Amino acid sequence: MALLVACGGGPRRGPSQYAQKLVILGFDGMDPQLVERWMHEGKLPHLSALAKKGGMFPLATTHSPESPTAWASFATGVNAGKHNIYDFLVRDITTYLPDLGMVKRTPPTFLFNYIPTSKPKLESIRGGTSFWVTAGKAGVQSSVLTVPVTFPPETVPNGEMLAGLPLPDIRGTMGTFSYYATDLSRYEEGNTEMGGILRRLVFEGDVANAELVGPPNPLVRQKIEAIRRKGPTLSDADRAELAELQAIQDVHVPFTIRWDRGAKAATVEIEGESIRLIQGQWSPWIDLTFKINMLVRLHGMAQMLLMNAGNELQLYVSPVNFKPDNPPLPISYPEAFAGELFKRLGYYRTLGWAEATWPLNEDRMDEKTFMDDLFVAFNDRAKVILDRVDAKNWDVLVGVIESTDRVQHMMWRLTDPKHPMYDAKLAAAFGDAIERVYRRADDFVGEVVRRIGPDVAVLVVSDHGFHSWRKAVNLDTWLVQQGYMVLQGQQPGDKKLADLFGGGTFWENVDWSRTRAYAMGIGQIYFNLRGRESKGIVSPGAEAKQLAGELSAKLLTLNDPEDGTPIIRAVYKRDDIYSGGYLQNAAELQVGMNDGYRVSWQTTLGGSPQGIVYPNTKKWSADHGGYDYAITSGVLVSNRPIGTTTPRIIDIAPTVLKYFGVTIPTDIDGKSLF
Ligand SMILES: [Zn+2]
Repeated sequence: MALLVACGGGPRRGPSQYAQKLVILGFDGMDPQLVERWMHEGKLPHLSALAKKGGMFPLATTHSPESPTAWASFATGVNAGKHNIYDFLVRDITTYLPDLGMVKRTPPTFLFNYIPTSKPKLESIRGGTSFWVTAGKAGVQSSVLTVPVTFPPETVPNGEMLAGLPLPDIRGTMGTFSYYATDLSRYEEGNTEMGGILRRLVFEGDVANAELVGPPNPLVRQKIEAIRRKGPTLSDADRAELAELQAIQDVHVPFTIRWDRGAKAATVEIEGESIRLIQGQWSPWIDLTFKINMLVRLHGMAQMLLMNAGNELQLYVSPVNFKPDNPPLPISYPEAFAGELFKRLGYYRTLGWAEATWPLNEDRMDEKTFMDDLFVAFNDRAKVILDRVDAKNWDVLVGVIESTDRVQHMMWRLTDPKHPMYDAKLAAAFGDAIERVYRRADDFVGEVVRRIGPDVAVLVVSDHGFHSWRKAVNLDTWLVQQGYMVLQGQQPGDKKLADLFGGGTFWENVDWSRTRAYAMGIGQIYFNLRGRESKGIVSPGAEAKQLAGELSAKLLTLNDPEDGTPIIRAVYKRDDIYSGGYLQNAAELQVGMNDGYRVSWQTTLGGSPQGIVYPNTKKWSADHGGYDYAITSGVLVSNRPIGTTTPRIIDIAPTVLKYFGVTIPTDIDGKSLF
């Protein structure tokens, strides 16, 4: 039975049986080439000081080189075939519909469709055993903070955990922002491609009424999912009912805006609060309650930014985060841990994807606002980690900050004159954005080392590196052109994120009875396998093997029509890169692209629009997913010498176990670095 310590948080633990301590700081997407360059230029003094004692190395990433896969391998020490996290997305082999990977949802149940009888349940689909569990059972005390793929949080023996990605917002998404403006046309209203809700404001005099879109009503959601489960093709009656249900599925919170044009200010009245903002000002966190019905309420929090209150009014609302002290689902272990942090530290972002990438990508936020907000996200994570560093109730502490990844995704274009979205004027102002975040990370490393003292072992790790993304590649369109995927009727229009999660039509017009292969997620190509996919036509065995060979060979000949550059650097076949009990969930092929090219958003969203290669004109201008893993290593900085020059991220877990003298389980793929 865990007793709570009033001041320290977490379960009461006995004195540690270990003399040694270990701190692992993760910076998502930190790139070894950039680290090396800036170390050399003296810009990362604290990382350099660590490296002088141990070393700095590229850290081999995973197939695929994406955060969920790589951090799952970090935690478990095994390849994706044993932990089951291959990508952000998983597919349903009956409907071909994608869903967010990493979690399995069991909806809540209601008596008479009204009285809640069970809470919604989320289970991680991650297999394998994380090192904090294995070590915890042996008595090693741990603090595990915002590591990706730790939602829902697991029970950590002798430890505490604050969950990270894919911890969603109140809508169950990776972060839905809202944007209200007087200068939106009717045509712009609705859902944006990547997760924003746009609403047009109409003022009568100085007053406009609006609604904040909250979580889907679980009762309506269940009806929608029941219809979608019927299969890839729906009857007209089902489609009509689906559309009707989608229109009413979300719970709203109404609010009023009073515009003080003269003062370039506005007052927002929401749930009994009245918040006056002047142009450019952020609100404090606002507590929000979404009433599903008389008995069920979900609690969240959001911040508003009055972007403009001059000639037009533009109001941005952040994704609604779970409230740390009253989340709809547990976000920490022990369950009260997140609330205790809140009591001590005040509000902090709980959303796994804490940075405002989508609004910048959709041109609803400018670079300065994005960067200011990104540093707030960084600081929120940092303050939690420092709180636990000071608590000293651990033998091993693991804390991950992802702002390094987000800033590279969004701001790389301003460091790459060859990028279609390079802009000399913006580059003059924000060309150092990535460097600033690396330096902030370096400062943070210095702060942690100062607090723990020089004798504690420190590993700084990242899960993958980064590449410029100059051109997008429609893999599904290529499959259509080559005859591997067959469409009936016309080429469908562009897809939006809403088509992916909870609405719209996915795989529009795909004739599954004649489709042999389909691309989904970032670089995965699945075969439409007989006996696995509901409408599978490719026989497992010889036919699948032949198709894998044929497709790989053809993919390697895919060149940029503009200058003949090979687009695909390597194609990896399932059985060559994965092994383990979850092998059947892996894609048959993992595509590894060359620097500069990434799978298009339309492919990840199941779309096959015209054209194969086109310039990437989005601010999301760099990536790692779908690139060849061999050129996408992360970084390892250690203040202890390590026994190899080619460390891999799967080596971290066994390293920790060995460091504490815990027997390394035989199914672990990695090897201890110490
Ligand atoms: Zn990333």
